[in-house]
Amino acid sequence: MAKVNRREVLGTLGTLAAAGGWIGLTADETIAQEGSGTAAAASREYKLPPLPYAADALEPHIDAQTMTLHHGKHHASYVKGLNDAITKLEAARQGGATSAGLEAIRDLTDSLAFNGSGHVLHCVFWENMKKGGGGEPKGAIAKQIAGDFGSFANFQAHFATASKKVQGSGWGILAWEPLSRRLIVLGAEKHQNLTMFGCIPLLVLDVWEHAYYLKYQNNRGGYVDAFGNVVNWENVDSRLSMATKLTA
Ligand code: MN
Repeated sequence: MAKVNRREVLGTLGTLAAAGGWIGLTADETIAQEGSGTAAAASREYKLPPLPYAADALEPHIDAQTMTLHHGKHHASYVKGLNDAITKLEAARQGGATSAGLEAIRDLTDSLAFNGSGHVLHCVFWENMKKGGGGEPKGAIAKQIAGDFGSFANFQAHFATASKKVQGSGWGILAWEPLSRRLIVLGAEKHQNLTMFGCIPLLVLDVWEHAYYLKYQNNRGGYVDAFGNVVNWENVDSRLSMATKLTA
């Protein structure tokens, strides 16, 4: 880093931490990635962030066993898959245009998108929930939802229906769309299909069966409706604030 004063450094770190927050990285991870050299390269490995609350904090809406498996097994496997894809892509590039490794690029690119999107969305998902959450949002997010969806009830119905109707495994996503500066709802399949580039996820709902099957079996609708009781609207509001500032 060139000569900068302490205030500039702290300001930069604060901005990076904020930016990392909205894409799902931890502040430590984001700051480490700004370094250079071997130590920094080693720290660029993606890491599974700890759950921001106890595994049973969201009971009875989301059970502890599901949370433990979902976080410790499923999310962890996306983190591993993402790191593996990065490592294998680095190896595949060695040797340039004649590298035999380039033949694997198609599959590795697929793995990068799948595991990378899975990692980012789960990071947002854990923080989108809290014990005693739910209810209606307040502040800027409430105003933006009312303006873009007509009312909170309209938004709820739109988000819940989009989540329930995702074909197979996927996500309901409330996102900030920076071109027209509005909120949109997406229904992504797997982690990476049917997304819209440039949009910043603010509130995401995992509707893969691993997210609900132990408690809700095939009743995805019951799980989606229960999600309304655990939403951390303060977190969604702060994500909106960061997204609007970063895309101003
Ligand atoms: Mn999941």
